[in-house]
Amino acid sequence: SKAKLFDEKKDIKTSFKDVAGLEGAKEEVQEIVDFLKKPEKYTSLGGKIPKGALLVGPPGTGKTLLAKAVAGEANVPFFSLSGSDFVEMFVGVGASRVRDLFKQAKDKSPSIIFIDEIDAIGRSRGKNNMSGSNDERENTLNQLLTEMDGFGTNTNVIVLAATNRADVLDKALMRAGRFDRQIYVDLPDLNERKEIFEVHLRPLKKVADELDTDFLAKQTPGFSGADIANVCNEAALVAARKGHIAVGRQDFLDAVDRIIGGLEKKNKIMT
Ligand code: ATP
Repeated sequence: SKAKLFDEKKDIKTSFKDVAGLEGAKEEVQEIVDFLKKPEKYTSLGGKIPKGALLVGPPGTGKTLLAKAVAGEANVPFFSLSGSDFVEMFVGVGASRVRDLFKQAKDKSPSIIFIDEIDAIGRSRGKNNMSGSNDERENTLNQLLTEMDGFGTNTNVIVLAATNRADVLDKALMRAGRFDRQIYVDLPDLNERKEIFEVHLRPLKKVADELDTDFLAKQTPGFSGADIANVCNEAALVAARKGHIAVGRQDFLDAVDRIIGGLEKKNKIMT
């Protein structure tokens, strides 16, 4: 059987309503939604629509979610792949995979291409070459640059890429006509954590009346959106296990403890 080269999603239901906080980033990607929906409006005076934007920020802050919401809002197909997948691939496959991806996306334009963990293929060339030959990765990166340069001005495919290591990226990626826009997606502040809790409490069947998202936000400094989604899910499981009829304050506190325990373990392994 042939390995799947990339993922294609149609009729995406994700919208900006699913993305809590991140007002600045949402404003910036709103423009991309408009480019996809009404390209003529923008090109009428000779301006060129950007081909790519880089979403930069720590893990779990909603970069993938935001990219998906752009596709959902613009009602266009979403083609995605992860840079880290290339690491496990056979030699010679990376470049052709990129070629196929862009061909499909162009055939179905307007569309979005999303490349998660672009640093896995987009690390600056010739540096950090500790694992022996990096030819395969370089070929893949070169193909990506070639594809972006080859886009006509009216292709109407926009490439979004995510990274938490913008500092290691090859400068060639950021050149004009490539990923020349950077959009920052930061860890949520107190108020944003509150909003993220509100989004992730919605799917829970029954939440105790005394539960207050302000309190939860205060208990979770440094948590990402992904951590908060995790807390809400974990709290529902804890509550169900204990036979509670609703998810209550203590269930959330237990869940927060668990997630903090998990984060501490992860940090220990990493350092
Ligand atoms: P990574 O860098 O690890 O790929 P990411 O920035 O792409 O992370 P996502 O995959 O978008 O993060 O986030 C994971 C999950 O966390 C989302 O599917 C969502 O459930 C939740 N989440 C993260 N940020 C937010 C947010 N701002 N609003 C609501 N939910 C969020």
